[in-house]
Amino acid sequence: MRVTIFGTGYVGLVTGACLAEMGNHVVCVDIDTAKVERLKRGEIPIFEPGLEAIVRRNHVSGLLDFTTDAAPAIAHGEVIFIAVGTPPDEDGSADLQYVLAVAGTIGRHLDRYAVIVNKSTVPVGTADRVREAVAAELAARRAAIEFDVVSNPEFLKEGAAVDDCLRPDRIIVGASGARAVAVLRKLYAPFNRNHDRMVVMDERSAELTKYAANAMLATKISFMNEIANIAERVGADVELVRQGIGSDPRIGYHFIYPGAGYGGSCFPKDVQALERTAHSHGYEARLLGAVEAVNRQQKTKLFELISHHFNGELAGRTIALWGLAFKPNTDDMREASSRQLMEALWNAGAKVRAFDPEAREETHRLYGDRDDLVLCERASDALQGADVLAVVTEWKAFRSPDFAGIRAALAEPVIFDGRNLYEPATVEEAGLAYYGIGRGRSL
Ligand code: NAD
Repeated sequence: MRVTIFGTGYVGLVTGACLAEMGNHVVCVDIDTAKVERLKRGEIPIFEPGLEAIVRRNHVSGLLDFTTDAAPAIAHGEVIFIAVGTPPDEDGSADLQYVLAVAGTIGRHLDRYAVIVNKSTVPVGTADRVREAVAAELAARRAAIEFDVVSNPEFLKEGAAVDDCLRPDRIIVGASGARAVAVLRKLYAPFNRNHDRMVVMDERSAELTKYAANAMLATKISFMNEIANIAERVGADVELVRQGIGSDPRIGYHFIYPGAGYGGSCFPKDVQALERTAHSHGYEARLLGAVEAVNRQQKTKLFELISHHFNGELAGRTIALWGLAFKPNTDDMREASSRQLMEALWNAGAKVRAFDPEAREETHRLYGDRDDLVLCERASDALQGADVLAVVTEWKAFRSPDFAGIRAALAEPVIFDGRNLYEPATVEEAGLAYYGIGRGRSL
């Protein structure tokens, strides 16, 4: 099929590449000229496992193209995806300016029936607003062209995006007409061979499904962080509690890891946006407010532990930091817990020597050159000249470190384990002091 995708970020680029992989002819449009030029040269602007190979393969074969020119791209697509950003507005609600701008562009150039598919995470009612924005442009040029608007939220996980896109758990299609559903059924048929993953519903339910999924996942994390905070006050080990409750199939082991708080481009903004939606409809979503509040506090946790260890005297100290990305297997630093920690350490007069397998370039882009930040090429380099070590992201490469080497390199042999990667006894046997999250002592 002929597919057009607006936005070549995590969602747009991965979706485009995966649809091309299935034999569709995909044109990706972005307003970022530099990004489009890089993509045309086969350079992938983000780190995402497996993405580079399928983008290059399909670009070379002619099934995946990139452009900044919206008009021919709209003429190309029988299905036109909107996959642009929906960042938080000042009050936390989703900023729809990019989505509506694309809708307007589509309306200005559409010349025959197409299905317009919104993949961005958008508040309930946005499908109607997209429909109105397209219709207004069509009316302005007196064009009687039919089109459908479908809500098809994306559930891929950064770090596993290609896999998630090729093998989705579910494909949510919010549509009000059979014609559009039939088009999407055809498009998604190759992803449905094993069993039908498509769940068809109305647009509003589809839009809310995405927020409900992210809010539920964020709730699981904040819940476990709350339990961790109780555990450390009552002398229990949250890691044992986690395994104890995970064994109940109604709870399950997935996504109940306590830690230094959730970040990323989705959970913080989506929980907030859902709360704003509820508020604007006269409902105070108290649980969502609590999920956010717990997370905000949890993101200060590592700093508190470090500061407490040094009796609040951090000036002149150097902290080795392992992990900058908001989670493993990505270079995305949006709302990363590492940022909050680094900024708090700098404010307190400490220096940071940091290592991350993929996010160093992004960190440098965000913070530039500064005296109190050294970005190291290897994990062991970050330890040189540092007082203590803080682990912020649970990259696999950090799971089984050389504790004796860490001990020898640090001025003070202490590990602050923001993701509970290590067994306290193992660390202590190696001669290091250990601070984790909710492990029976800490503060
Ligand atoms: P992103 O910020 O990585 O990319 C957005 C892209 O859209 C940018 O390249 C930007 O230049 C481009 N853009 C903006 N205006 C445009 C226009 N008028 N025409 C063409 N391109 C334009 O965003 P993302 O992380 O891919 O997220 C996109 C949407 O998908 C958001 O609503 C997000 O909440 C949602 N989502 C993201 C993820 C994720 O893991 N990142 C997962 C599921 C859903």
